[in-house]
Amino acid sequence: METITDQHFDVQKIRAEFPVLDQKVNGHDLIYFDNAATSQKPKQVIDALTKYYEHNNSNIHRGVHTLAERATHDYEETRKAVATFINANEAEEVVFTKGTTEGLNLVAQAYGRKFLKAGDEIMVSEMEHHSNIVPWQLLCQQTGAVLKKIPITENGELDMGAFDQLINERTKIVSIVYISNSLGTINPISTIVKKAHSVGAKVVVDGAQAAPHQKLDVKTLGCDFLAFSAHKMYGPTGVGVLYGKRDVLEKMDPYQGGGEMIKEVSFDGTTYNDIPYKFEAGTPNIGDVVAFKEAIEFIQRIGHEALHTHEQKLLQVGSELLHKIEGFEPVGYAGDKASVISFNIEGVHPFDLGMFLDARGIAVRTGHHCTQPVMDRYQIDGTVRASFAVYNTKNEIEVFADALQEIIKKFKK
Ligand code: PMP
Repeated sequence: METITDQHFDVQKIRAEFPVLDQKVNGHDLIYFDNAATSQKPKQVIDALTKYYEHNNSNIHRGVHTLAERATHDYEETRKAVATFINANEAEEVVFTKGTTEGLNLVAQAYGRKFLKAGDEIMVSEMEHHSNIVPWQLLCQQTGAVLKKIPITENGELDMGAFDQLINERTKIVSIVYISNSLGTINPISTIVKKAHSVGAKVVVDGAQAAPHQKLDVKTLGCDFLAFSAHKMYGPTGVGVLYGKRDVLEKMDPYQGGGEMIKEVSFDGTTYNDIPYKFEAGTPNIGDVVAFKEAIEFIQRIGHEALHTHEQKLLQVGSELLHKIEGFEPVGYAGDKASVISFNIEGVHPFDLGMFLDARGIAVRTGHHCTQPVMDRYQIDGTVRASFAVYNTKNEIEVFADALQEIIKKFKK
């Protein structure tokens, strides 16, 4: 497949692939800057979902009839596409989940409960999404393991000095976010993996925000697990991926019991299916998994380089324009940052800003973004977060900055 080069990157052509963008909201052209919460879907994803239900809907794996074979084939084709997308050794290392949250809970329960004991340590950072904190807290309650926190610096980077001091022979799991959803910080995963592996700890990467922006290569990263969600990378909701190294997945207990995850069931004892099916109990979200392949194809067609260049330009334009606004207070300004701008305006509550922006058709997210420890770190209630995707434009950012100026003037009258 040919990918788009920077010179041939045409944002208007890309926008035309997203039907939802072509609408007015509150009398204004929709400007969608809530991509870190969920991205919009291109027509090829929507069409694949419709086609699945109009032509191929059937349960998978055990049917011998034509529709069951078609559905099984398409479901497994997505698994192969994901394996290629993340450079996994084999498709069997790709487990379908309902999202990042489920992937992280799966590791905590199916790996953690089996292998961790009282006094073992689990390390996460202060910038984690709640879904990469709470599953580990639950595991600590169940096993007596202890949760340790890597602090973050004033500009929103991991305090790697503190990490070096915290990591030790008791550390069994380091679970870390690749790109922070509330700060945009891109973390040095390979360095963390090397240090964690040197003490024998396993590394789990929360790739929810990385998947839409960054080439995910599990071999380069070297991580043991990687979790991400389709809906943040132009795919459908209700589908996610947990990548795990074969030898680790094979040693784990099942996560849930039910159909599909078994080989033989009897009242004398049950044997489990091979990976990845051992972790996919029950009927999965077949239609959305099938459509997910189209989201991967969409990203591959654009190419990570063109995508990155475009989004970094948006980040630069956005940062420059917002810095000119009186009272602008950025939250998180790491050197290595994805296209997310989190901020406050002095004297205006983020919720008020969000509502006024919505009245102008501009969708941003306000609040703690499921990262309350980050808000505690900066002693704030929340932020306004504008997060940009491949279909956003420089013009949209200019309209956004003008709208902010106008709102602030009103507030300060
Ligand atoms: N981690 C991060 C960094 C996220 O941004 C999110 C979603 N906001 C999640 C985990 C959870 O993803 P999901 O809700 O798709 O399970």
